Amino acid sequence: MILIHYGELFTKGQNRPYFQNLLLRNLKAAVPKSRVYLEAHRFLMELPESADETAALDAVVKVFGVANYAQAIETDGTDIADLVPAALTLLKGKNGPFKVEVSRSYKNHGLTSIQIAQQLAAALEEKGMKMGVKNATATLNVEILQHKALVFGQKHAGQGGLPVGCTGKVITLLSGGIDSPVASFLLAKRGVKSVYLHFHPFKDPQEAVRRSKKIQDLIRQLQPYTQSTSLYLAPYNFFVLDALHVPERYALPLFRRFMMRVAQAIAEKEGAEAIGTGENLAQVSSQTLSNLNSIGSATDLQVLRPLLTYDKKEIIQLAEKIGTYAISNQDYIDCCQSLVAKHPATTTKIRELEKLEERLSPTLLQQTLDASVLLPVKPSG
Ligand code: ATP
Ligand code: MG
Repeated sequence: MILIHYGELFTKGQNRPYFQNLLLRNLKAAVPKSRVYLEAHRFLMELPESADETAALDAVVKVFGVANYAQAIETDGTDIADLVPAALTLLKGKNGPFKVEVSRSYKNHGLTSIQIAQQLAAALEEKGMKMGVKNATATLNVEILQHKALVFGQKHAGQGGLPVGCTGKVITLLSGGIDSPVASFLLAKRGVKSVYLHFHPFKDPQEAVRRSKKIQDLIRQLQPYTQSTSLYLAPYNFFVLDALHVPERYALPLFRRFMMRVAQAIAEKEGAEAIGTGENLAQVSSQTLSNLNSIGSATDLQVLRPLLTYDKKEIIQLAEKIGTYAISNQDYIDCCQSLVAKHPATTTKIRELEKLEERLSPTLLQQTLDASVLLPVKPSG
């Protein structure tokens, strides 16, 4: 079985069961054939005989809220004789010297943690294992519960963070670029469930569904972390036609404000409470404080920009780690590209943009929403 410790959830006091239930649900979803249950502040995941253990471990390491995990054996009792066979199984094929560490969440065991560690080490030594505290190359861990013990080897670090879903729903603006998938990953780390919104350059919604494979692949690649499966595909052609009525250099900032309005309308429908983007401060010339102000003021909702302070290099490293970088680098027609080519305004005033927006059609938002489609993106396999 896999022993899973959660991290920050420990600080949640009375709300802890809420966070625990979400993490339990997310762990089950990550390894569908497993049985997961909570036992004295840790999770135990039992895998069926036929399960692919490596795949299960690979899934667990991607679930936010997991502080660390280890392959473990559960014993039938808590006497030293009960612990020895499990310890021998775990240490088989490994070279010592080994050190034993014991913790008791059930304190009425009769022996102290140190006594259990000493007696178990002595029993293992008798069985021919090399034991030693100072020069140990590996640790054997034992957690004593009331009627059983968990024996496990090395603990591996999990993702940390909080279980997805615990902080609510956010409309995440996903482009085909490098940044927004990483932003989505970081939002998920703080428990956000993303509903994605992507603007595409196609006139026919069905063509958008067919040709947005790259966007769908990004969502699938993120799923082990984000558990998000909803993608809204919104056309940008209505905006482009309207933008002919405004000076070219304002088309991009106006489009960004327009994206916020579409996102807000979808947020109302979805019960989402904020908008997420991959925007950064000063990464490109249009990402100025005044432009970020202008964009944010187009919506009443909070705009969450988890990459705001990241260097491009840091973003790329993270994109490589989570496997989105290669997908982001594939060719794709990004609809902002044509607007960027026109040297967008780097400083904008909200009033000025509002004035220009009077030239846009009053039905633009509704037309765009009417031509948008919701596409469920199923996990692969
Ligand atoms: P990214 O790599 O995420 O595209 P970027 O550095 O290229 O980011 P911009 O192209 O300026 O930055 O876009 C800023 C943010 O606006 C993106 O991170 C994304 O959240 C949103 N965005 C841009 N284009 C689209 C699009 N076609 N559909 C949905 N959101 C978009
Ligand atoms: Mg981009």
